[in-house]
Amino acid sequence: MGRPDGRSQTDQTLTGRLASPRLRLRVTATAETLVRGGHPWVFSDSVREQNRAATAGELAAIYDRKNAFLALGLFDPDSPIRVRVLVRGKPEIIDADWWAKRLALAIERRAGLFDAQTDGYRWINGESDGWPGLVLDRYAETLVLKLYTVAWLPWLETVLAAMVEKWPGSRIVLRLSRNIATAARTRFAREDGQWLRGTPGDLVLFQESGLRFEANVTRGQKTGFFLDQRENRRLVETLAQGRDTLNAFSFNGGFALYAARGGAKSVANVDISEHALASAERNWALNRALPAVAACAHELIRADAFAWLAEDSARRFDLIILDPPSLAKRESERAAALHAYGRLTSDALRRLRPHGILVAASCSAHVSAEEFFTAARQSLQRSRRPFIELQTTRHTPDHPVTIREADYLKCIYFRVGGDE
Ligand code: SAH
Repeated sequence: MGRPDGRSQTDQTLTGRLASPRLRLRVTATAETLVRGGHPWVFSDSVREQNRAATAGELAAIYDRKNAFLALGLFDPDSPIRVRVLVRGKPEIIDADWWAKRLALAIERRAGLFDAQTDGYRWINGESDGWPGLVLDRYAETLVLKLYTVAWLPWLETVLAAMVEKWPGSRIVLRLSRNIATAARTRFAREDGQWLRGTPGDLVLFQESGLRFEANVTRGQKTGFFLDQRENRRLVETLAQGRDTLNAFSFNGGFALYAARGGAKSVANVDISEHALASAERNWALNRALPAVAACAHELIRADAFAWLAEDSARRFDLIILDPPSLAKRESERAAALHAYGRLTSDALRRLRPHGILVAASCSAHVSAEEFFTAARQSLQRSRRPFIELQTTRHTPDHPVTIREADYLKCIYFRVGGDE
């Protein structure tokens, strides 16, 4: 853009089609309004005109009905999200400098958030950081670059160069969302878990709030660790003193270690995955030098946490954390998910001692925060136990959200009264 021939250099080098005219799309009035308002997605059914066929990752220029420039974005012929917007308002040249600047913005947004005690966090949070469909997480010297659209693959070398310039000593591993893994392999010769830089290795050690953890960056869920729950883990540490704690859906035991450092009497991690519990065990061992961790009884329970909590058991806890996987993968599962959250909360309440604390989280994007909070409050009311709501939390500053679709995390804290 901005060149006399109307095409950017990157455009040409990227597609290798010097003769191709710039890819131009015209979209419906509704899509126009959405893009103007800052939404980064243009769906395939909103495209009214496309001047030529195009391949994944080409830059698409979107024009309004009056032929005025609206936005520039990454084209994806495979996805219902046909274009992911990079630039709005006025055209820009998308070259190495441009990527370096965009990266600097994401880094600047996180300035001062973390000290040396925390070297695991998110550098780039997709759409909400202006990198639609791309996530970059840091685990000490290792960066995990996760892609959710094949449109990034032709740009990989360019964005990688910007990252290597910023963090010259880092290792970088590529992760791919399940839906693009096959296309990435067959069309771009890229594999999930492929090392782009540095010595390969599954497990990476890092610190979060001074606690030591491992993350399986090549195969683990997300990018290896649930970095999004850090602030809730920190809060749990402040609530755990003297408590018998249940960490349901524990994954690799993050909440349990914070609870232990906060003075919990005991912690039990419950997860259905053997891998998750094996990792929880190793994470516990990594922190055993801390007196509070050494003093805390630690138990691993491999079970379906829904069924385990529903069991007619006499075992009680003073602090229960519920952090299930997403219960609504699509909109049609919303009602069932709300029901399941309500049920889970009720079952957990039966296991909670007088003066106990319940922490309930949801990562289902299709369930809104208000719906989730309401379902949890109703479960507490139904229990007929007196309770106070301590607080609710949402996304953390390194996981900012600017669009509804990316807004998934919410958590609510209750303390029940003296009578069971
Ligand atoms: N609280 C964790 C993240 C939890 S992710 C943290 O802070 O890191 C959800 C976890 O639920 C995964 O580890 C998954 O293995 C587990 N899980 C999924 N279904 C389950 C079930 N039915 N019972 C118990 N655990 C389950």
